[in-house]
Amino acid sequence: MALADFDLVLFGGSGDLSMRKLLPAMYARDRAKDLPSGARIVCVGRHAWSQQEFLGAVEENARPHIAEKIFDQNLWQAFCARIVYVTLDAGDPATYHALVDVLRTDAAVTRVFYLATPPSLFSTICHNLAGAGLASANSRVVLEKPLGRDLASAKQINAEVGQVFKESQIFRIDHYLGKEAVQNLLALRFGNVLFEPLWRREWISDVQITIAEQLGVGNRMGYYETSGALRDMLQNHLLQLLCIVAMEPPTSATPDAVRDEKLKVLRSLKRFTPTTLAQDVIRGQYRAGHMEGLPVPGYRNEPDADPHSRTESFVALKAEIDTWRWAGVPFYLRTGKRMPDTLAEIVVRFKSVPHSIFAQASGATQPNSLIIRLQPDEGLQLNLMAKTPGDGMRLRPVDLELDFRETFKMPRMEAYERLLLDVLRGQLTLFMRSDELEAAWEWVEPILEYWDLEETEPLPYASGTWGPPAASALIGRDGLQWREESLPEL
Ligand code: NDP
Repeated sequence: MALADFDLVLFGGSGDLSMRKLLPAMYARDRAKDLPSGARIVCVGRHAWSQQEFLGAVEENARPHIAEKIFDQNLWQAFCARIVYVTLDAGDPATYHALVDVLRTDAAVTRVFYLATPPSLFSTICHNLAGAGLASANSRVVLEKPLGRDLASAKQINAEVGQVFKESQIFRIDHYLGKEAVQNLLALRFGNVLFEPLWRREWISDVQITIAEQLGVGNRMGYYETSGALRDMLQNHLLQLLCIVAMEPPTSATPDAVRDEKLKVLRSLKRFTPTTLAQDVIRGQYRAGHMEGLPVPGYRNEPDADPHSRTESFVALKAEIDTWRWAGVPFYLRTGKRMPDTLAEIVVRFKSVPHSIFAQASGATQPNSLIIRLQPDEGLQLNLMAKTPGDGMRLRPVDLELDFRETFKMPRMEAYERLLLDVLRGQLTLFMRSDELEAAWEWVEPILEYWDLEETEPLPYASGTWGPPAASALIGRDGLQWREESLPEL
């Protein structure tokens, strides 16, 4: 579907997210000829930059994030000509006239306000936009994470933004949902008959979802201390991925049909009790260690760190879904910083064959697993048992691989490229609805309360390891292992 002309207003247009992700994503879509001739990107910030000065900052900060192989000087100049810089203090209603002067009033021009600012400004910006008469019926607003820091603050954001924009105009972004592999999981589940009969407690042993990063907290201590791994990664990205794995087949791919099913999953998550909170939720904080042979400091020794910080840089938990399909199937979720690898993957492990006809000497049959890789490369891997060639019946696990890059030989689209196009098209399927956001917080909140009440510390783990040993024990108690622990040593 061709895009209508648009004014994409980036509040926080001079910030890290805009420079590293949003402007490069828009350049890539411009290069792919997705942007109409009347497409404009209006960057907003408090700094009194001239247009030329701002374009200088774009050259310095956004341009290096565009891959050389897609960079073309002429296209870049044409793209930069679409950028307009506006000086405005989001908290000062008197300054919004600068935006009024720039935005087109033609109803055929789509207007998108992308709030890449601290979330404390979300409701102020929305109210000031309304006050300046800018929140028109053809406007959309995009909200970046973190969407609240608990249920009450999430409800407040929803209520305040909802006073200005209708739900159909609000795009709550979770960039994991923009990843090719996540959408392929939908295609795999609902575009084939093969998996659906097996996609249930009778055949699935457990599901593991991991988002790991090698990086430490770096210079984001100010933000991270208000957040931690549970708020930063689990409440949003990991739970959204869990929903895509666990949801019932929606009746169609329309936004509400899909979001209704995701909401049902969130509402079916078994609530934690004081006992299960103590047993099934592990939090950790990295200590000094080695990453790729080099020494790195512990969390409490990072720049600007509180030497007594109790903020978790790692969380692992066991979730259960109280439905006929999933009762008794554990979903292990895990995320952390300073892990041995940077990866995001979903591992669906099937049960063992009920009875093996092969002799012990043939090699033990291992349960099949389906691995959906989201990061660093995107692909699917189905692990099956096969006979090794030659005499005798010896079995060995082999992988059926679907590497998207290899198979489709098409350029890869970054998550932000896809999500920005969806916003500009008004396509809400990959964005969270207000009730989903609140249901996720509702489930997570008892963990936060428990950690606040309990004067316990996060468990230490050495940088460059997969978290505290208690995370292995969590899954080990069920007779299972994290995927990397079950792989043969190379
Ligand atoms: P930065 O601190 O780099 O940028 C913040 C931006 O907000 C700046 O452009 C700043 O512009 C603008 N801003 C702040 N206060 C005002 C104000 N009163 N009026 C107008 N503009 C204002 O933050 P990030 O870009 O890193 O993050 C932005 C948001 O996106 C945050 O909510 C963050 O959590 C979220 N996010 C960021 C990611 C990232 O990779 N960076 C990833 C996912 C989410 P100026 O100072 O010129 O006014």
